[in-house]
Amino acid sequence: MVRVRFAPSPTGYLHLGNARTALFNYLYAKHTGGKLILRIEDTDKERSKKEYEDMLLDDLKWLGIQWDEGVDVGGEHAPYRQSERTEIYKEYIQKLKDSGHIYKCFCTPEELEAERKKALAEGRPPRYSGKCRNLSQEEIKKLEEEGKPYVWRFRVPDGESIVFEDLIKGVVEINVNDFGDFVIVRSDGSPVYNFVVVVDDALMEITHVIRGEDHLSNTPKQILIYRALGFKEPQFAHLPIILGEDKSKLSKRHGAVSVRAFREEGYLSEAMFNGLALLGWHPKDDREVLSKEELIQEFDIKDVHNAPAVFDRAKLKWLNGVYIREKLSLEELTKRAIPFFEEAGYKGDFEYYKKVMEAIRDSIETLKDIKERAKPFFVDKFEISPEAEEVLKQEKALDVLKQLYKEIEGMESITKEEFKKITKKIQKELGVKGKALFMPIRVALTGETSGVDIAVLVETIGVDRVKERVKRVLDRLG
Ligand code: GLU
Repeated sequence: MVRVRFAPSPTGYLHLGNARTALFNYLYAKHTGGKLILRIEDTDKERSKKEYEDMLLDDLKWLGIQWDEGVDVGGEHAPYRQSERTEIYKEYIQKLKDSGHIYKCFCTPEELEAERKKALAEGRPPRYSGKCRNLSQEEIKKLEEEGKPYVWRFRVPDGESIVFEDLIKGVVEINVNDFGDFVIVRSDGSPVYNFVVVVDDALMEITHVIRGEDHLSNTPKQILIYRALGFKEPQFAHLPIILGEDKSKLSKRHGAVSVRAFREEGYLSEAMFNGLALLGWHPKDDREVLSKEELIQEFDIKDVHNAPAVFDRAKLKWLNGVYIREKLSLEELTKRAIPFFEEAGYKGDFEYYKKVMEAIRDSIETLKDIKERAKPFFVDKFEISPEAEEVLKQEKALDVLKQLYKEIEGMESITKEEFKKITKKIQKELGVKGKALFMPIRVALTGETSGVDIAVLVETIGVDRVKERVKRVLDRLG
């Protein structure tokens, strides 16, 4: 059975790259009927924060990614937080000591730095010289008695090439001389990422390690550790890097990159899910709008592209508009929209919000657009834009508004149809039509020269507020 994992470090917000990694793991697990494990890699004590962990989980859930085992749900291989697995790591460090795969290295940071600089100056890849590799028992004893701190290094078999078949990159071959003997346990006794990740992936019975391409250079080191511990190696799949539209690595310079920021900007989780799935993968045809079910059905890890994925912000926005217009029920859309109404300071009950959403859903791309688009439904006293002011100066504008006021003055309620009848009547009586008829009304009711359907607005805000708005303009124009 396929077992995959998403293993974030809780050191910041969930950004698009990591969210895509989580999503591909999820899709692959679902596609194959396998399991997704969520493991928290919080070994960097300085930078890891519980708040970040909570936010990561919350953002993943919001995206619609569910895991079968993990920090909050538990499972057969608990604990799923690395900081709680110290005893397990100790056991496997002991194994490496016993088998002679790791050795004590007493080189000081200064010595190592000097070595590194020298190598770079001579145009060689910087790697550990192997100075402490063959220290005698006596030498080790002496250094220890002097109280010299040490790390444990992995004895890398000299000159060997590590070859593995990556499900996305194809055959990858890396010569171990590119990196040399690497640290497994730091001088404070804490094991490094490359080691703990192998122990965890092996014990958690992970079959496929699907992660960002930035980890590709770690993989040969991890393979050496798998072999040293006698663990079965998983299959690896390294996802292509994500670039901004200028083809440089996607970063904050390109605008919002955290899932949280997109949430706050009014993106729907379904659109994000769909959009992220297209970062480095696409279905066999050229469809771009795919439901979660379709994605699960069609996604396969081996179809992920090797070439970098370019994040197209405009396309995601377009996709979000599609989901707002077509994919959610009005009821559901309204529920999602409530925080955005509230943030804009627009007060109303659910039924009212629903009517407004029905009126504006076709004309917004993010829920944040509600602030601008829904304004006429909530704000009675608004500024009239300079452009709109011009409309009111036109011949007959005032007459239209006067006439409208006369028609509705005695009414207690109004429907779209009634409103349309009234405008027809005014058209006949005053001999005005088209823009000359509708623009003054629009301006009186919204302060703008474009926007929502006026008949819908009239019906939704009700006749009293229409009277009030028209009267305000009439009073001002005298
Ligand atoms: N904790 C690592 C990261 O956040 C993931 C390591 C892995 O997937 O192997 O980059």
